[in-house]
Amino acid sequence: MIEKVTDGVYRIEVPLPRNPLKYTNSYLIKGDKESLIVDTGMNREECYKALSLALKELDVVDPSIFITHLHADHIGLAGEFGAKEVFFSKTESEIVLKMLDDPSEYWRTILENYMANGFPQEEAKKMLKLHPGIRYTSMEKIEFTELKDGDEIEIGDFRLKCLETPGHSPSHMCLYDEDRKVFFSGDHVLIDITPNITWWPFLDNSLKSYLESLDKVCNLDVNLVLPGHRRLWKDLRKRIEEIRRHHQARLKEALMALDRPKTAWEVAPSITWDLVYSNWEDVNVVQKWFAVGETIAHLEYLFKQGVIEKEISGDGKVRYFRS
Ligand SMILES: [Zn+2]
Repeated sequence: MIEKVTDGVYRIEVPLPRNPLKYTNSYLIKGDKESLIVDTGMNREECYKALSLALKELDVVDPSIFITHLHADHIGLAGEFGAKEVFFSKTESEIVLKMLDDPSEYWRTILENYMANGFPQEEAKKMLKLHPGIRYTSMEKIEFTELKDGDEIEIGDFRLKCLETPGHSPSHMCLYDEDRKVFFSGDHVLIDITPNITWWPFLDNSLKSYLESLDKVCNLDVNLVLPGHRRLWKDLRKRIEEIRRHHQARLKEALMALDRPKTAWEVAPSITWDLVYSNWEDVNVVQKWFAVGETIAHLEYLFKQGVIEKEISGDGKVRYFRS
């Protein structure tokens, strides 16, 4: 599906079958001679078909690609379409290239931390087979054009400013078109669903980084938000205020759950998730993985604010507690 969102900008719906996100929004920015694809969907047949068909219909030759962040549903097809340049954050390009060098080492670091936070080993093994980041990411080594905060990309008469917004991922980047007051928010700000804020080995306090990144973009002069998933909307600031409240509520739930020292795995069922289930046991392992990651991020935030404490017990597990 292709939708013209404003002059020279098209939204392409790239389907994510059997994924609760439903689809990724790719955008095509069309200048006179050049064009830029913002995000690509996953490295899977259904995504490739949808995006290549749309590019054909829009008469795109020789596009460049901009990737908002390293998640598979955004970077998956960055190696396709013979892109002239693939623009990507310097920090994340280093992470991705390192991960491709040694995927098992990358996942082992992450797995070890989840297990220290109480995630059962058996479940973790199941997760590794299902995680979209492992199944559907781009496996090619791409020569990225590395970006840092404040860099500008010019496509025809579009001037797009790169804004680094760490939190959802280690060095997520949004694009801001000041002239048109259009904001490509990636997964930094979404509507109807809230961006997943999880624990990362590359961020000291991911929820703090995220909240600061919300502050960073909150006062931009914006008339249209073009997100990585779901629908477009106009009022960026109002949505940011809702997301701030959402995290405050979750922080409170996490704090209240600590009636005794608990691991993040034990705290997770006490937090309200955007999931339909009656029993925590029935939640599928990938969703549990995301929920526990979010729980760690919230507990670490409380810990680093000095609100709670933590200890590593004899069994090697991290338990948080109220002092
Ligand atoms: Zn996404």
